Amino acid sequence: MTGQGVLMLSEHGQRVAIVEFGKLLHASGFVAATDGNLSIRLDEERLLVTPTGIRKGAMRPSDLVIVDMRGNRLDGKRRVSSEIGMHLLIYSLRPDVRGIVHAHPPTATGFAASGLGLSSPLVCEVVVGLGTIPLARYGTPGTPELADALEPLIPNHDAILMANHGVVTCGSSLESAFMKMETVEHFAKIALVTHLLGNAQPLGEKEVQKLNEVRHRYQSSALSCDGDATGDLESDEREETAGSRRQ
Ligand code: 13P
Ligand code: ZN
Repeated sequence: MTGQGVLMLSEHGQRVAIVEFGKLLHASGFVAATDGNLSIRLDEERLLVTPTGIRKGAMRPSDLVIVDMRGNRLDGKRRVSSEIGMHLLIYSLRPDVRGIVHAHPPTATGFAASGLGLSSPLVCEVVVGLGTIPLARYGTPGTPELADALEPLIPNHDAILMANHGVVTCGSSLESAFMKMETVEHFAKIALVTHLLGNAQPLGEKEVQKLNEVRHRYQSSALSCDGDATGDLESDEREETAGSRRQ
């Protein structure tokens, strides 16, 4: 199973991990003010989550909140993130997920505010790591509308753009979810430059198929050595053949 390394960390260690990745999120420019939220699955019944309205670059381990799988607070003085519904939905649909990051990175959010996903196969490493990065329709933050918009995409995607809002990523650890956020923002910059140059040359169907095979191999070896699992590419392939990706 994935995520065992994370499960072996003490609760304090996991609190420190959220604090550290919150600092990185802010230092990377992926959030401003009190934007964003992070969570870790502590065990089958409990999540460790950032509180609402806190600067992600200036949290202390004791600021974090523990909730059960229905969002009821079990520990902590602050109110849990207003996006707890989104986190709960992802954990319920993806037992492989142990960490979630939500942020508003400017370039990727610019795509999301322009009605554009990041699904064109422009960069081989992104195809291997994330497959496609779809755009979920808009939903008011902190309401079930947002979770409803994400729901159909969660089973087959580890990174999703949220229209007129931001990005959510998930992984077999918080670090894995954070790295996917980095990849999304980095790729959004590349996609923007490619668009500006006006000569985009997405990979063809055959090349995408070969990359998908690489991804399969990577996933099986990662699973067997308790590394990262990056989602269900088989379903991605069924759902979005390279032909349909080349738009
Ligand atoms: P919270 O501070 O409630 O986690 O909300 C931040 C955010 O990004 C809402 O979408
Ligand atoms: Zn947000």
